[in-house]
Amino acid sequence: MTPAADRREFLGRAGLACGLLLNPARAELAAAGASAPVTPPAWDVPRAPLPRVQWADLTVLDEVLIPPDRPWRLPQRRLRPRFVTVHSTGNADGRADAPAHGRLLLNGLRSEDPNSRTGYITWHFTVDATRVVQHLPVSEQGDHADFRGPGNHESLGVEMTSAAGMTPADVLHRTAFLLARLMRQHDIAAARLVPHQHWPRPPDGSRKPCPAELLDAGVPGERWRRFVGLAQAYRNGLRAYRQLPPIA
Ligand SMILES: [Zn+2]
Repeated sequence: MTPAADRREFLGRAGLACGLLLNPARAELAAAGASAPVTPPAWDVPRAPLPRVQWADLTVLDEVLIPPDRPWRLPQRRLRPRFVTVHSTGNADGRADAPAHGRLLLNGLRSEDPNSRTGYITWHFTVDATRVVQHLPVSEQGDHADFRGPGNHESLGVEMTSAAGMTPADVLHRTAFLLARLMRQHDIAAARLVPHQHWPRPPDGSRKPCPAELLDAGVPGERWRRFVGLAQAYRNGLRAYRQLPPIA
């Protein structure tokens, strides 16, 4: 099987990563058998953090870094994170978990968008209900938000995915905990946790309604505010929690 055929086969199973919706190559997606984009159901945001006794599980992070020699990694593009951009895969059928997205990025997830810097889509972390998979070091820019804009230059990209059998609340707890760690490590305030929707994209300044499950009519509303509140609650709790190693 050629690499391209392998990738298409994988995309067919993975559904539509958020980043793929930046990609106008719909014909290729259709050929891959990916379902048409649909608005996924809204997720209920938990109102309070999990009890601290359960936090050790939230700290687990699997590193599946894209090898530095791949053309979709550009180690010289240094990142000093000032924001965290939150995405969701929005795949309503939920066929791909976080490790599956790790494999997808290892193989290279191509972008046909002429504005793309590398011709590929990358981000830093994928979170599902049971694990966090890291794809890029936090000191290096990805290609997940707005091409050559501040979203890519200044933010870490976190992609949420809920595979079959997973509970969205578990994805949200794990994501909020990761955001809290990143907030502490990089001194990022809650106001700088932003949805992908925050960043206008060239050439027309349009904003992608992502993460769709946490937006109200395509824009941040009460659900997004509650999610940021959950991350802030974990952040507050981390002040009195055991020291965690910094994420490299
Ligand atoms: Zn997105």
